[in-house]
Amino acid sequence: MRIAMISEHASPLAALGGVDAGGQNVHVAALSEALARRGHHVTVYTRRDATELPAKVRVGRGFEVVHVDAGPATHVPKDELLPFMGDLADGVARDWSQRPPDVVHGHFWMSGLAAMDAARRPDAGYRVPVIQTFHALGTVKRRHQGAEDTSPQERRWLEPGVGRSADRIIATCSDEVFELKAMGINTGKISIAPCGVDLSFFSADGPADSRKRRFRVLSVGRLVPRKGVDLVIRALPFLREAGFDDVELLIVGGGGDSGVLHADPEVRRLMDLATELGVADQVRLQGQVSRGEMPGIFRSADAVVCAPWYEPFGIVPLEAMACGVPVVAAAVGGLRDTVVDHGTGLHVPPRDPEAIASALALLFGNPDLRAELGNAGKLRAQTRYSWDRVAAETEKAYQLAVAGAPAGVAPMEGAAL
Ligand code: UDP
Repeated sequence: MRIAMISEHASPLAALGGVDAGGQNVHVAALSEALARRGHHVTVYTRRDATELPAKVRVGRGFEVVHVDAGPATHVPKDELLPFMGDLADGVARDWSQRPPDVVHGHFWMSGLAAMDAARRPDAGYRVPVIQTFHALGTVKRRHQGAEDTSPQERRWLEPGVGRSADRIIATCSDEVFELKAMGINTGKISIAPCGVDLSFFSADGPADSRKRRFRVLSVGRLVPRKGVDLVIRALPFLREAGFDDVELLIVGGGGDSGVLHADPEVRRLMDLATELGVADQVRLQGQVSRGEMPGIFRSADAVVCAPWYEPFGIVPLEAMACGVPVVAAAVGGLRDTVVDHGTGLHVPPRDPEAIASALALLFGNPDLRAELGNAGKLRAQTRYSWDRVAAETEKAYQLAVAGAPAGVAPMEGAAL
């Protein structure tokens, strides 16, 4: 198949850990690679956000990235990109003028708009089936962030419109299906295919980063308040009370768009909090870390904590599991599918630092439990979350879209343990 992906803000070639560069970038890159390995030809269209970027980059056999001129050739926060989606669609349609793809897959609601626009131009002489992955939903974001949500107002009606118009939707977890249903979207055209993890790269075998204290807790991700990193800092005094004071919290990610750690207001907020709680000496903010360093960092941890207020999917817990590390996870969104409570990690209620501390104390006090959960996580990642498997499920959704066949909710086989 000739597959077009549109990922307006999240380039598969971007550095990770900035405010707008995380799971979607990883997802688009790894899915494209896995589909190319299956013999498809994948072109990812993304917005040019730097003048020096070439028009086309061949990433590998059957996988290229096209930088489309749409808005200023500099970083623009994703919530300000809506006015440029018409130009993005024009650029995509121009590239299709010789030969349109068999399917177009939009990532994030704004890319869905561009995909729909490029795929259904009345005078183009073709109609390309549109598959949509939302990655995050405005309804959920508004529920949790309220007035802090910087999404454009138009998201309220345009996002459900993308859902209704798409030929097929790929949800990344079962929770998302309920949310889509609540938005009035026909669940008959939804497939579930989770995100995956690169198992040749994230594995338990290999060197581990060195650490300074007896126990290491790890937090990885974009440093935005909804990721709940402050909750992990707040857990440290409770852990002390429980007798675990020789604990280091390593926070990976953040540093703002400039990549300068202390220019990031969230970094300052977290350090101020750690100082206020008297745990600053236990907290290490590492800033953005390259992909290559991540496995060694995961392997160095006794536990990875993912404590978001909400989480559309969350690739970090999968990476931790693949590296054999137990995950303490807020029981929200995709984390409820990936992390099995007392199977591959421990669930805690959202926004509950005391519960995070109790879970960590349980793990620190039980090396056997840590090993058991870590091993089970490794197995679960290997058997259920390889990108090859996710690509095969995604391909099925593409085939359904091409065939125009309505089907029931098609979950990924064995998505729950
Ligand atoms: N990541 C990274 N370096 C960093 C911070 C994050 O490589 O400094 C990666 C992390 O390993 C994961 C992704 O960024 O692959 C974050 O994905 P996730 O789905 O957990 O969060 P999202 O960014 O989608 O909210």
